[in-house]
Amino acid sequence: MGEIELNNKTFGAKKMLKKDIPNGVIIYEGPSILDGAPIVVIANGFKENNNRKVGDMIQTWILRSDMHPNDALKTGSDSSICGDCFHRGEYNSETGLIENNTCYVNLYKQGVYSIYHAYKRGSYPVCDIKHMQLFDGKHVRIGSYGDPAAVPIHVWDTISKLCKDYTGYSHLWRTCDQAYSKYCMASCETVRGYEHANKKKWRTFRLISKHDTIKNINEIPCFAQVTGAHCDKCNYCNGSMSNRKNVTVVFHGINGKEKQYLAKLKKLEAREAEEVKEVKKFVLINS
Ligand code: SF4
Repeated sequence: MGEIELNNKTFGAKKMLKKDIPNGVIIYEGPSILDGAPIVVIANGFKENNNRKVGDMIQTWILRSDMHPNDALKTGSDSSICGDCFHRGEYNSETGLIENNTCYVNLYKQGVYSIYHAYKRGSYPVCDIKHMQLFDGKHVRIGSYGDPAAVPIHVWDTISKLCKDYTGYSHLWRTCDQAYSKYCMASCETVRGYEHANKKKWRTFRLISKHDTIKNINEIPCFAQVTGAHCDKCNYCNGSMSNRKNVTVVFHGINGKEKQYLAKLKKLEAREAEEVKEVKKFVLINS
């Protein structure tokens, strides 16, 4: 297969018995939009979901289909699913450790390894007409791991029609097909990024440190961080399909990563300042 083909909510299939509901289904298997390498997208959480931030949401995991997620990390092959995301780390062959990784997904703790192993064992059926009902009335997280822009957009077109609502985030908003803004917030780290993304008609999800004092009138803090509720009760981050404000979220990475995040942020801000200087120089020379 490769993909879900149906685009309406008439499932034409009998209601599934509870005992037949799978733990997860494959909603895409095929080349990455980013580099053509083999990837798979698995949707799970139909039975239960204990994720403490997102609550009761169907998760969608974007993985390399031909290698263990840890091998993908170590070899840099995770670029097929994450592109050049700010949070990716680098593998240090001397220490055997991934350094400067500030991704909030903990592959081990959040079950990504188990999902990959289950996929390899053939535990997940390919999503077909009888599985469509599993999304009905549900909240879906588009891209729980991996960037949604690595996956053909028609997959998200279909899922978004089947489910009740969704949230999504992309770090690849600068370069990807801009149609993904329908489903995703632009993940930004700086005010410059936020302004740039807004100009491109993306709503933004800006990561800030707890010391950040910048207040932008068009930004509001993440509901989960303010109220302690979950994304399934909020669903504010549903891309540019809604006319809502942008969101800020205080860095909530795994313990010990804040220092690395701040160091990376400093470098990014310095790079952006250089870019601004270059643009000014160019304008001056050509005016
Ligand atoms: S603003 Fe709402 S949907 Fe967005 S991350 Fe926070 S809780 Fe989730």
